[in-house]
Amino acid sequence: MPDPTTTAGAFTRRSFLAAAGGALLSCRSASGPLLLAEYPFRLGVASGDPSPDGFVLWTRLAPRPLEPEGGMPPEPVEVDWEVAEDERFASVVRRGRARALPELAHSVHVEPEGLAPGRPYWYRFRAGGVESPAGRTRTLPPPGSPGGRLRLALASCQHFEQGYFTAYEHMAREDVDLVVHVGDYIYEQAGQPGRLRRHAGPECTTLQGYRARYGQYKSDPALMAMHAAAPWLVAPDDHEFDNNCAGAVSEEKAVSPSDFLRRRAAAYQAYYEHMPLRRASLPAGPDMQIYRRIAWGRLAEFFVLDTRQYRTDQPSGDGNKPPSPEVLDPRGTLLGAAQRGWLEDGLARSPAAWNVLAQQVMFARVDRLPGEGVTHSMDQWPGYEHERRGLLRFLEERRIANAVVLSGDIHTNWANDLVADFDPPAPRVLASEFVGTSISSGGDGAASPRDLGRLLADNPFVRFHNAERGYVRCDVEATSWRADFRTIPYVLKPGAPIATRASFVVEPGRPGPRPA
Ligand code: FE
Ligand code: CA
Repeated sequence: MPDPTTTAGAFTRRSFLAAAGGALLSCRSASGPLLLAEYPFRLGVASGDPSPDGFVLWTRLAPRPLEPEGGMPPEPVEVDWEVAEDERFASVVRRGRARALPELAHSVHVEPEGLAPGRPYWYRFRAGGVESPAGRTRTLPPPGSPGGRLRLALASCQHFEQGYFTAYEHMAREDVDLVVHVGDYIYEQAGQPGRLRRHAGPECTTLQGYRARYGQYKSDPALMAMHAAAPWLVAPDDHEFDNNCAGAVSEEKAVSPSDFLRRRAAAYQAYYEHMPLRRASLPAGPDMQIYRRIAWGRLAEFFVLDTRQYRTDQPSGDGNKPPSPEVLDPRGTLLGAAQRGWLEDGLARSPAAWNVLAQQVMFARVDRLPGEGVTHSMDQWPGYEHERRGLLRFLEERRIANAVVLSGDIHTNWANDLVADFDPPAPRVLASEFVGTSISSGGDGAASPRDLGRLLADNPFVRFHNAERGYVRCDVEATSWRADFRTIPYVLKPGAPIATRASFVVEPGRPGPRPA
């Protein structure tokens, strides 16, 4: 986290905490002065969903994040915010006041507009005379401009109990323009004994439960520092709600759909409350607008997909299964008709050099059973093979330029050619996929997974596979997309060093990652 003592005129956190020991601080609220006894910015600050003239700025007032209401009184609180052109806040270009409402866990989502395109900005909040740490963010290049170059980091799957978030400490030093987080930001499960850190409380099923879980995760200093370092583009996967959920169907099928949708409403509300999302993503009951698009000039168009909310139930009882006609059922869908139409329409109109599908589950049809026999994951795109083929056909027929799929979910790294081998059966490489490993889920991981040789032999379109922890750093220019698999050897102890395990390049007009 940027040191709050370096910002001009700031309350230092240390002096505030010292002062708070002796006296309560007064804080404006809608109903008059409100007393806050403790430092309220324990979950840090964040920004996201940049546009050419703005972004979302986020914070949440929560002096005691694990407690009901985060330790806040049940009243609205006014929060001042400011945006500056420089790190010292000498040139403040926007100021305003927002209300942190108890109905939204005293979260704040501000959407400043009218800023200059393609440049960094710094921001901070103030409540009750106390200043938040400062964050750094940026606007997108002007619409229709070439877009220059872009460095992004692909992240997913940060199980709090299974490892430290050391990967974010390294990512924060990489000067990334954008973090793309494709889900499993929290895990909903109950705390397990004997882990290096323990989830507080039972499995999340209520709004209070999910809020406290986000409070616990977002107290992690490395995660907080990465949010303060760059804007994020986020989409949830399953664990923000319930493992392997599909539409209105629970992992445990005994739960009635109406109870399940009540739980989804709680999960989505807590997700919104803790993420730098625009007002357009404010949930209405169990429905949330997660799929959306941002354009990095004409360099890259990002289609953020939602493969959980609208999907049909996993075929063949989920899990890894041998091929069956069920996956070709035209009623099976990961996207739902509306999102599919939106995506194809957007792809057809996109002027971008790179068309990026930022989404949750692996697209390549990987045989998960090394050696004899074939199985595919029913929770991933191959379980929805009819729709997968439809999208590949669309890319081919409409000559969609340079599609790159960014995925997460499975706690392993993959670089894949995305191949059409149907109608006609001769294989054609149509797009590229990078699957990013977990930040911490799964513990230490391994550089050479079990049966790697046979897995690669069975899946010639897989160019790289590895099970270490980390993230994928992508340097994107009009003339090349470079992906570096940045890995750390352990997460069960702090302080792991970072290395580049493998590097790939995609050239425009030549789909498929090639070793750099
Ligand atoms: Fe995960
Ligand atoms: Ca997942």
